[in-house]
Amino acid sequence: MSISLDIARDNRNAAPVMAAPAAPARPSLIGLGRDGLAAALSEIGVPERQRRMRCAQLWNWLYRAGATGFDGMSDIGKSLRAELAARFDIARPELVTEQVSLDGTRKWLLRFASREGSGPVEVETVYIPEHDRGTLCVSSQVGCTLNCRFCHTGTQKLVRNLTAGEIVAQILVARDRLGEWPGASRPTDAPLPDAERAITNVVLMGMGEPLYNFDNVKAAMLIASDGEGLSLSKRRITLSTAGVVPMIPRAGAEIGVMLAISLHAVRDDLRNELVPLNRKYPLDELLEACRNYPGLSNARRITFEYVMLDGVNDSLADAKELVRLLRGIPAKINLIPFNPWPGSPYDCSDWDTIERFAEVVNRAGYASPVRTPRGRDIMAACGQLKSESERVPARQRRAATEAVR
Ligand code: SAH
Repeated sequence: MSISLDIARDNRNAAPVMAAPAAPARPSLIGLGRDGLAAALSEIGVPERQRRMRCAQLWNWLYRAGATGFDGMSDIGKSLRAELAARFDIARPELVTEQVSLDGTRKWLLRFASREGSGPVEVETVYIPEHDRGTLCVSSQVGCTLNCRFCHTGTQKLVRNLTAGEIVAQILVARDRLGEWPGASRPTDAPLPDAERAITNVVLMGMGEPLYNFDNVKAAMLIASDGEGLSLSKRRITLSTAGVVPMIPRAGAEIGVMLAISLHAVRDDLRNELVPLNRKYPLDELLEACRNYPGLSNARRITFEYVMLDGVNDSLADAKELVRLLRGIPAKINLIPFNPWPGSPYDCSDWDTIERFAEVVNRAGYASPVRTPRGRDIMAACGQLKSESERVPARQRRAATEAVR
């Protein structure tokens, strides 16, 4: 059971996902780094000597104050504000629905405007409050190319990568809804963590494979972790990958966030089936890349995610092999009870099996490894995210555009 707030049903009907792409919107300033912002300012004629200061002001408004329009930017003169508003955009994506689970998990369906080459797209973002932390689960792509057999998102073809701005916008919307800007009030319909901030952690564990959208994910996470803006610590940002081996060293060196690996199997034959990407980057290569991940220590471990599939990967022999494989890598193991979705081809292991598996893992020195399923009632748990967005073939898109002319 869940509480569901359908915020924009009328709009939804008025603007179906397959609609013709609208006229290109003004470019967004959200998601630009400082250099990008400076370039945007130069485009509208802000003299070079002022750009640094203007950049700092904008940065502050966007990422510390949560501004959604230029009007309130009191330290920026009226004419420059008007110029900015005429050329650029800082609006939020459309919030289509907000669902609140009985356990306090929230799921937002966001719709991003058309971009060149695609109509509007929808993605899901999930917020999971715990007593001492609040974790925001962010999407990096609309749909996914990986086709992991147990994952619901995997049944949705890739529509497109999200831009850096669209990835950052998920954090901004979550802050809006959680009342996390200065002077805002927090919602009272579900418990929030007993921490100063509602969002203490970000995990790139929503829709998509972040390492197949590297540049945008990198730009977005550098903004999320910027000390003069959203200020999330890189140690509290976790990027989860199914194992795009060549990009793993770059993730460490250039983004510097924590790494999670969707392992799910300890033998290549089974992993080839569950995570088809394994055929390209088999286990030994993946584990080698993990061993070499920059900055690993006992305080900075890699998380290995392992979904518990009944009779598939949950034997005691699997548990022992898991522990053996990870020897020498500073690691945490996260056992994820399988979250079912309509038509899913697997069942979740029973609790006794999970506990016995966990015991082997515990005995090897890995603490409290079972991830409690959160938000299952609103299909917000791991691997349950999916949106209705579809890839529209270019021919069909052109025809739709012509039809509205
Ligand atoms: N593509 C990235 C990011 C997705 S993270 C990755 O694969 O890591 C989502 C996590 O949930 C992954 O570990 C994924 O394997 C896991 N997952 C997917 N479907 C699931 C399901 N039905 N039940 C439990 N976990 C699932």
